[in-house]
Amino acid sequence: KQTPVTVIGLGDMGSALAGAFLDAGHPTTVWNRTASRAEALAARGATAATTAAEAVAASPLIVVCLLDQGTVREVLGPVAGALRGRTLVNLTNGTPRQAREDAEWAAEHGADYVDGGIMAVPPMIGRPEAVVLYSGSPAAFAAHERTLGVLGGATHLGADPGLAALYDLALLSAMYGMFGGFLHALALTGSEKIPAAEFTPLAVSWLNAMMTSLPAMAQAVDSGDHSAIGSNLGMQATAYVNLLDAGREQGVATGLMEPMQNLLHRAVAAGHGGDDLSRLVELLRTNP
Ligand code: NDP
Repeated sequence: KQTPVTVIGLGDMGSALAGAFLDAGHPTTVWNRTASRAEALAARGATAATTAAEAVAASPLIVVCLLDQGTVREVLGPVAGALRGRTLVNLTNGTPRQAREDAEWAAEHGADYVDGGIMAVPPMIGRPEAVVLYSGSPAAFAAHERTLGVLGGATHLGADPGLAALYDLALLSAMYGMFGGFLHALALTGSEKIPAAEFTPLAVSWLNAMMTSLPAMAQAVDSGDHSAIGSNLGMQATAYVNLLDAGREQGVATGLMEPMQNLLHRAVAAGHGGDDLSRLVELLRTNP
């Protein structure tokens, strides 16, 4: 018999989560501030609770996916008393500090707490390519691992509830860095009316090639040995100036690319011109 699950928050992501639980045969109760968003799920067999309290009371496993942590407190605060003895899985995007505070808050109300970071977009949910990172109560995760597994690959990072948010935001940082660079590249090539679709295959193969250097960079960061093997920072800082100058010449805003130039020049000024790019991590630590 499948574990009953409650999903609170039926935005794009919450609806996808509830849909995956339904598809896997879990008795699924749903609640959303705007009740009409529960209709499509009810037609697929979900029970639409009329209040958040009723939704919490319906299942031992409560999955929450709301806009942000402020919303989570707003929605769950008034129904905290109903959480006792249940497991709260919070898949709302937030910071490590917020996750740790939520875990304490849940513990005060007698609930087990698992935080999660969804590394997927809604259409990927329920498919093997979706990854959801979890942290917090190892016992609660173990008890519900199979149920949570219907959403996608479930990875538990540790008992510290802040870990999933930390990994999630780190991965999003890497993603936005890549997207930011790609958007700047499209603006640059677009300044000469080159269609984005014509340029993009080259960008894809270039980024894939660069991706292979990440493990070596990680090793350099962990060992503290940043000696360059072919692309020293002094050379990179010099070439980078051309990247910004070309932006200005071509009428493209350089704001997305400037912070990297500042870092490169700080590293060279500090005597690290012979080192590799991995050295910059140390300049990013404001609290080493
Ligand atoms: P949506 O904007 O589609 O949905 C937001 C949800 O929050 C809705 O259920 C909305 O209810 C609810 N909400 C907002 N404000 C309030 C409030 N004051 N009181 C009660 N409910 C409120 O967002 P998503 O579903 O896409 O995202 C949900 C979470 O999932 C976010 O934390 C997001 O960062 C995360 N996420 C999303 C991904 C995505 O690609 N979509 C990917 C990975 C994570 P109502 O319908 O009544 O407005």
